[in-house]
Amino acid sequence: MRAFKAHLRDLAPYPYRKEEALVKLDQNESPFDLPEALKEEALRRLKGLSWNRYPEIHAETLRKRLAALLDWPEGGIVLAPGSNLLILALSLAAEEVLDLAPSFPHYAHAARVAGTPYRAVPLGEGFALPLEEVLAAFQGGVFFLPNPHAPTGALFPKEAVAALAERAKEVGGLLVVDEAYREFAGTDFSPLGRDNPHVVFLRTFSKAFSLGGIRAGYLLAHPQVAGVVREVLPPFVLPAHTGVILEVVLENPGYVREVVEGVVRERERTYGELLRHPTWRPYPSHTNFLLVKTPDAEGAFRHLLAQGVLVRRQDRYPGLAGCLRVTVGRKEEMDAFLRAAFGVAYA
Ligand code: PMP
Repeated sequence: MRAFKAHLRDLAPYPYRKEEALVKLDQNESPFDLPEALKEEALRRLKGLSWNRYPEIHAETLRKRLAALLDWPEGGIVLAPGSNLLILALSLAAEEVLDLAPSFPHYAHAARVAGTPYRAVPLGEGFALPLEEVLAAFQGGVFFLPNPHAPTGALFPKEAVAALAERAKEVGGLLVVDEAYREFAGTDFSPLGRDNPHVVFLRTFSKAFSLGGIRAGYLLAHPQVAGVVREVLPPFVLPAHTGVILEVVLENPGYVREVVEGVVRERERTYGELLRHPTWRPYPSHTNFLLVKTPDAEGAFRHLLAQGVLVRRQDRYPGLAGCLRVTVGRKEEMDAFLRAAFGVAYA
């Protein structure tokens, strides 16, 4: 087969395997579905659309709404069906991709697909941001910084992110602050990009907005940067139905606070309970998941699954030996997880 570029012939698949389980804590989804009334309203509007017509070329209506809500220039906003696609677009455009290790695996995957040179700087002790090393490594290109960080749940300090933003400006690179989990940390790094075109922000509707299945995310950037990303993506990339659903949630965002409060409450309770575990150790988290170190990730994963609780193994990533990632679910789901976790038998 000679149809494809050589670097695309043996791509490793994205590390996700579907498993059936009663309690699904493996994908960092919101455990709460969209409120029924909002679903009804979205369905009503969906019915009113002309399904035969293409959507707006660059989701202009939604960009206007987001621009007004966030006080961000409309030209600096890019909407896409999932921030994953924005990560791919940024990786395609990038001269080089700089990453952390471990980090959200899609950055490395996207860079590989794009055929973009890639380097990763290992996280420091206790999952600290290795600021000096990153400042030295960041010579241009695009640096993906999830903050709060995935898959550790750590939150890097504002001063460090500000230093990276300055470095991006100095070297003419682009710092991408991926704020996928920001609602669970109560953070907003976007002020760093108001006067610095070298910093952009990724946001998603998949977590706190409870829309994982709908596929939507956006980029906040300087209009010139956003323009490049928009053109890298295909036209009409945001489906009309996704657009309609986003309109409804942006008009009625009240439920997001309840999602966040519910998740943060369960996260803190579960963290506190796990501190009493004889052999497992939870790491503090600013996200909707907990990273948990166990003596044997495979054994722990299998044991939980046998009890009907599905989590995600992280033990193959650098520095994460023994680690599992547990998405924070509803109270009864976390009770099931804790019962299973404390029922682990060790020889
Ligand atoms: N960034 C990070 C750090 C994530 O964890 C995820 C989802 N797992 C994404 C981006 C992708 O989100 P989306 O559903 O918007 O593609």
